[in-house]
Amino acid sequence: MIKTRFAPSPTGTLHIGNIRTALLNWMFARQQGGLFLLRLDDTDAERSTQAFADAIIADLGWLGLKPDDQVRQSDRFALYQKRFDELRDKGRVYPCYESSQELDLKRKVLLGRGLPPIYDRAALQLTDADRAALEASGIAPHWRFKLDQSTPLIFDDLIRGSQRFDPALLSDPVIRRGDGSWLYMLPSVIDDVDMGITHVVRGEDHVTNTALQLQMFEALDAPAPRFAHAALLTGEEGKLSKRLGSLGVDHFRDTGIEALAVKALLARIGTSDPVIPVADMTALNESFNFAHFGRAPARFDETELAAINARILHLLPFEAVSGRLPEGMDAQAWAAIRPNISTLGDVGIWWSLVRHAPANPNIDPEDRAYLADAADIAATLDWASDPWHGLTSRLKDNSGRKGKALFLPLRRALTGLDHGPDMAALLPLIDQQDAVARLRNNSAA
Ligand code: GLU
Repeated sequence: MIKTRFAPSPTGTLHIGNIRTALLNWMFARQQGGLFLLRLDDTDAERSTQAFADAIIADLGWLGLKPDDQVRQSDRFALYQKRFDELRDKGRVYPCYESSQELDLKRKVLLGRGLPPIYDRAALQLTDADRAALEASGIAPHWRFKLDQSTPLIFDDLIRGSQRFDPALLSDPVIRRGDGSWLYMLPSVIDDVDMGITHVVRGEDHVTNTALQLQMFEALDAPAPRFAHAALLTGEEGKLSKRLGSLGVDHFRDTGIEALAVKALLARIGTSDPVIPVADMTALNESFNFAHFGRAPARFDETELAAINARILHLLPFEAVSGRLPEGMDAQAWAAIRPNISTLGDVGIWWSLVRHAPANPNIDPEDRAYLADAADIAATLDWASDPWHGLTSRLKDNSGRKGKALFLPLRRALTGLDHGPDMAALLPLIDQQDAVARLRNNSAA
């Protein structure tokens, strides 16, 4: 059974980058008939809040990326402790006593000598007596995971292909702070093992972490999951932008962007597949393929998002939006108005044209007699069978007008505008007597 997880820290709300990570995990799980887990990485008690956790869950709900299950790391500290004790007994984690200033200094010295700033493992040289003395002086140790430096770290990334890291060029990662709190690295591995995660899909900023975590899986006697690291998103200007970090669900909702548009775009940017409008996620889930993702940064463009949003709205069936339309709007009205909107909020403008006669439409004096004729004809038509064609064909015969001269005065008198939804679709939505009145009222100065 395929199982993926999305593991945000509730230290902020979701932004476009981690929405994409959530989406890729969700899509792959859906495609494979697997499970998609939400894991709240709240080991940082100071920065994690319930409000952010709630907001993340609400945002995933809005996006339609509902997790099949949900866990939080703060409920699992006892389990981490147990695994930690095992690793300590095996000598795979060890206590260190350097202050951050000391570590900084060590790094600077190495860099100054042109050497990689790797932790020198000085703490491994301490005797029991040294440690006791340090602890007696009030220094609580932080803990590092001891890398096996003899074998290269190799994995086959589903997006990036074969990856190889030399552990001798990496520092033993700190996994626990002096106050006993956990850093992300080890709890994440323990969770992935316990929860049977088969695929870890995340941003490429985690590639080095993966190399280090591979040894943690091994140390825990567990097989590692498969990994897929997606290239990061960049902004419109082609650079990592601050703006991307602040673009989240609130912004999309406020600007009339559909969740489906966010998903349709994020599913395909950075891949060799085109961004396409869809009425639901089925086709995108089916065609999802890690091998189609490129290694170059994916460009996220808000103009492209707005464009795909409009194209999606133009094909959404009435049932998909019915709960969000103005009172009284039915499937026929949706079909008539849908091609003219960029956001669902635009519906209101066109719907009020249906319901209310325009105030002071701009009518050419020489069109007034023509509109009187139009009103007379409109009053006699069978409104249930294509009144627009009935009206315009009779008017054409009567007046000899064609093209713009035939249509525009009618559109103006009926809607007050020079453009808008197809009149053949719009006119049947306007009550017949109301339409006759709109034409009649503009037939005399
Ligand atoms: N909490 C980590 C993050 O947000 C999770 C990384 C992971 O997916 O393992 O970066």
